[in-house]
Amino acid sequence: MRVLLVGSGGREHALAASLAKSPQLSKLYVAPGNPGIENIATLVPLQADDVQGLVSFASENHIDLIVPGPEAPLVAGLADACIAHGIPCAGPTKAAALLEGSKAFTKEVADAAKIPTARWERFEDEDAALEFVRRRGAPIVVKADGLAAGKGVVVAQSVEEAETAIRHLGMPLVIEECLVGEEVSLFAFCSDEKAVLIGAARDHKRLSDGDKGPNTGGMGAISPPPNFDKTAQEKALDLTVRPMLAEMARRGTPFRGVIFAGLMLTEEGPKLIEYNVRFGDPEAQALLLRLKSDLLPILAGVAEGNLDNAHAEFSDDVAISLVLAAKGYPDEPRKGGIIRDIEKAEALPNVHVFHAGTKKVNNDILANGGRVLTVCAIAPNLHEARNLAYQGAEIIEWDDKIFRSDIGL
Ligand code: AMP
Repeated sequence: MRVLLVGSGGREHALAASLAKSPQLSKLYVAPGNPGIENIATLVPLQADDVQGLVSFASENHIDLIVPGPEAPLVAGLADACIAHGIPCAGPTKAAALLEGSKAFTKEVADAAKIPTARWERFEDEDAALEFVRRRGAPIVVKADGLAAGKGVVVAQSVEEAETAIRHLGMPLVIEECLVGEEVSLFAFCSDEKAVLIGAARDHKRLSDGDKGPNTGGMGAISPPPNFDKTAQEKALDLTVRPMLAEMARRGTPFRGVIFAGLMLTEEGPKLIEYNVRFGDPEAQALLLRLKSDLLPILAGVAEGNLDNAHAEFSDDVAISLVLAAKGYPDEPRKGGIIRDIEKAEALPNVHVFHAGTKKVNNDILANGGRVLTVCAIAPNLHEARNLAYQGAEIIEWDDKIFRSDIGL
């Protein structure tokens, strides 16, 4: 199969590494890719949201499968354009990608499908929203109703904080009950009404140790999370994903792609917080290290509505992904620093380094973004996996390197 993978982050480097192992792969292109991916695939100079360019490239190069990594191409309508051109695409249409694009849409679907989730209300009027939080009290959660890159959610501990959030985020808003429990992310390959469990992960969104500092795209993850075994994951899939797939199919907008369900494990059982319509980054890096099956036929099944014989086997080992970011991230990451000894880190057993915001100049690897590398490791237990990943992170030489010391703790 000839495959075009779309994206340029650590998630896409990990996807490329998995796809490259497939005996069914004859050619792998990645648009736009990064200097790490360049070693295992052919880079195509097209941006991830350039739908027209990607579809033209796929047609001209006889691509059998498009694999979108991030949400940007999906929101831009890549899957819809692929359908129009008869190119299989392992990601959802614009209509199905609304599960990530609109909080209110997700809540409506969840209610219609009887999926356990926080009670909620949508507001288009500021005064009504203010009145609502004064009446309900805190803690309470205020969310912008749109794609906000993780920045549009405020878990308000006081009514004053909720009022500030309402004024700051603007309309429309979703306001919901605050759920209490452990948070986990659940992943599944989906095609129409069928879901195949990928696994679960726990990520760390805040910049600094102890979950302090600003929100980021994610500073690290482990898979699986402790206390959320396979049986519990399958049960959660039945409760929070399969009914959604049936509801989306019923509405005539079936979902094909990777679903990422953010769950709160409450005293009453798992409750849905949100969906994303793609792998998480850096969760994908950890999850994919545990994948023992061939990823390519599964993604082809996702695209073609055929997961009946799909088999996704995962190792029982624990995987960790640790993000190395540039000093100044997330506001003003310092660019241009030279990064050395990535190969030395990769020489450690079961350690893999995935590129994200890097750039190759002559033969040097330079920092060129906020999240720059993900150092990953897999081992029989979390303790060993952590030791390996942290050894790898220390070996890499780069003046502007920052990372959390408590991923997985
Ligand atoms: P979201 O973008 O919807 O995933 O929200 C971002 C983060 O806010 C989540 O990962 C949770 O940590 C938190 N959060 C969102 N909704 C709730 C809720 N109803 N109760 C408690 N925490 C929440």
